[in-house]
Amino acid sequence: MNKDNIIWQIAIDGPAGVGKSTVAKLVAQKLGFKYIDTGAMYRAITYLVVHENIPMSDSAAIYALAQKANIEFKIENDKELVFINKINVTDAIRQDPVNTMVSTLSAQSLVRKVLVAIQQQLANSFSTVMDGRDIGTVVMPNAQLKIYLEASSAVRAQRRYMQLTDKGYKADLQEIELMINQRDEQDKARLASPLKPAPNAVIIDTDNLTMTEVIEAIINELNKVKSLTLH
Ligand code: C5P
Repeated sequence: MNKDNIIWQIAIDGPAGVGKSTVAKLVAQKLGFKYIDTGAMYRAITYLVVHENIPMSDSAAIYALAQKANIEFKIENDKELVFINKINVTDAIRQDPVNTMVSTLSAQSLVRKVLVAIQQQLANSFSTVMDGRDIGTVVMPNAQLKIYLEASSAVRAQRRYMQLTDKGYKADLQEIELMINQRDEQDKARLASPLKPAPNAVIIDTDNLTMTEVIEAIINELNKVKSLTLH
């Protein structure tokens, strides 16, 4: 097999605040792959639903809105920006009301259908590291490498707190842990693509690992897969 022709798919799933996006971004950078933040897509649609005053119960209206929505990721001055229908929602999607509403929206199978189709198209076009909740189970079922990151809710809350305060956002540690737990319960309990490790995922408990160690562990796993695939 010629390794230059392979489209690599690396799926990184796990609960809220486990550090998926930071890790996935750095792994993608190291490998020269594209990083795709699927959580930002669910968040961007949630933003639009809230701003257009569509009730969360109106799944038909939400489906129609998602089908027409144009989500774009751009990099400007080294900052990654998220746009929906040309509106820059980079900051708004990391705050309330999006934080509290996103898991309710993402439990809707019609919205998932629209976003999964976009994600699969991207994953089949170039080598990607994609993070989310259903990447290894639904979006990229044939990914060469599937990682599931775990960490206790206390550690995850602390990491999210640092991430927010580092970016200059105001944050409350206890409130963050409560929200993280609420979101995970919703994401795990839903019928449509619940959060769970794919059967062939490598599970990495990150409680006692630094970011660098997590990245190293993922690259090691990839090297194992590569040596099996290319020989
Ligand atoms: O990854 P992030 O925390 O930004 O995701 C926000 C929410 O979007 C998750 O809590 C989950 O409800 C939803 N999500 C999802 N499937 C994905 C990515 C995110 O349901 N692949």
